[in-house]
Amino acid sequence: MFNEVNFDLLSTWVKFRPSLCESCTALCCSLPLEVDKEDLFRLGLISENELEGSLKKVAKRLQTQGLIKNFRAATALFTIAQKMNGKCLFLDKENRCTVYEKRPRVCREFPKIGPRPGYCPCIKK
Ligand code: SF4
Ligand code: SF4
Repeated sequence: MFNEVNFDLLSTWVKFRPSLCESCTALCCSLPLEVDKEDLFRLGLISENELEGSLKKVAKRLQTQGLIKNFRAATALFTIAQKMNGKCLFLDKENRCTVYEKRPRVCREFPKIGPRPGYCPCIKK
C-alpha cells in the first residue's frame, strides 16, 4: 500500500521484498527502460541482420516507429518509448507485462540492479 511515488528521490524508495509486488501497480515499469541490441532482438524488434549492422541506423528506424525514445552510441543502449502516462510501452491496462517471456534483462533483474539496488520506488502508507 503506497500513497506517493517519487522516482527521483532515491532515499524515499523502500527495501524490496516479494510481497510488495502484490500491492504495487508495477511502478518499476515507469522507470526509464534501457535495453541493448540483444534485448531488442529477443523482443522481435530488430532482425538478425540488424543485430550485426549499424546501431545508429536501427535506432533511426525504431525512433521513427515510436518504439524507442533515444539511443546512446557511447553505451550502445536504447531507451524504450513510454506511453503518455509514463508507463512502459509494453505494459497493459491491468499493469501486466505483455512481453513477459521476452522481457529485457534489466526487467528480469530489477530491483537487484536499478537506480537503487535492492530498493523500489514505493512509499508505504
Ligand atoms: S516497483 Fe518493486 S514492488 Fe513494485 S512491481 Fe516493481 S519490483 Fe514489485
Ligand atoms: S518490458 Fe515489461 S517488465 Fe519491462 S518495463 Fe516494460 S512492461 Fe515492465
